[in-house]
Amino acid sequence: MTFPNPPDIREATAARQGSDPAISPAASSVVVEARKLSLVYPTADKPVTALSEVDLTIARGDFVSLIGPSGCGKTTLLRVIADLERPTSGHVAIEGMTPEQARLKRLYGYVFQAPALYPWRTVERNVMLPLEIMGLPKAERQKRAREQLERVGLSGFERKFPWQLSGGMQQRVSIARALALQPDLLLMDEPFGALDEITRDHLNLHLTQLWRATGKTCVFVTHSIAEAVFLSTRIVVMSPRPGRILDVIDCDSLPRERTLDIRESPEFAAIAHRVREGLKEGHSYDD
Ligand code: ADP
Ligand code: MG
Repeated sequence: MTFPNPPDIREATAARQGSDPAISPAASSVVVEARKLSLVYPTADKPVTALSEVDLTIARGDFVSLIGPSGCGKTTLLRVIADLERPTSGHVAIEGMTPEQARLKRLYGYVFQAPALYPWRTVERNVMLPLEIMGLPKAERQKRAREQLERVGLSGFERKFPWQLSGGMQQRVSIARALALQPDLLLMDEPFGALDEITRDHLNLHLTQLWRATGKTCVFVTHSIAEAVFLSTRIVVMSPRPGRILDVIDCDSLPRERTLDIRESPEFAAIAHRVREGLKEGHSYDD
């Protein structure tokens, strides 16, 4: 579960981001830095090395996708960044702070694989829950919830219950809930993994527009090559367990403003090809 920003951080964030965060002077500063990050899960039979010597730098405003086969440590890496898991060795910093400090300062919002909404709460009250925990006044909670629900295209659904919404809409509610915390960093773990391809296309388009409008730094886990190429400024290709970084691909050849038809372009195909090659190279049948 994530918690919202206190007011001082919110103001600092707003000031830093300015009116066009995508081109703010702070755009080059580092938000996430991992050095020689390893994580071993102790299990009953033998220890599982989930991450091995991961080095990664994520700049402000970047949209970084982590792609790799199931079980390669993508969720683990996201959870380490979020301070939900402690690395066995190595170093990770979020805006120069430890993950714990970053968590306490509410620097990130986390979108889980499943929307994790409370069925007895309306959509609006689900979005407001973390704001309630943080002790924001009701008017502010409601204002933020409405703003973010509008942002994800769910105005008019505030009083519905999650079970009255489609899977795609539920996942948009959980994105609105993360954004209502006004985080610098948005961590998303296969948020569209369970959805059909048509809905996923639609949400990908929505997410890229949302990213450009907010200028948030995003770390996005997926195992879809097309989704990674469409959304990202950089793609991190991971090996099967133990998760190592095999390739980091810049998507500079694609326009920052993306429409679904860029998927037909030679630039898109070239990046997708490189991702596929990276995944192929890293594949082992030993497991
Ligand atoms: P991914 O998200 O890429 O599918 P995970 O990060 O969830 O991979 O898992 C990486 C590896 O660590 C897998 O082999 C998984 O079984 C193992 N693993 C994940 N969480 C735990 C845990 N809490 N205890 C033991 N092993 C775990
Ligand atoms: Mg996972």
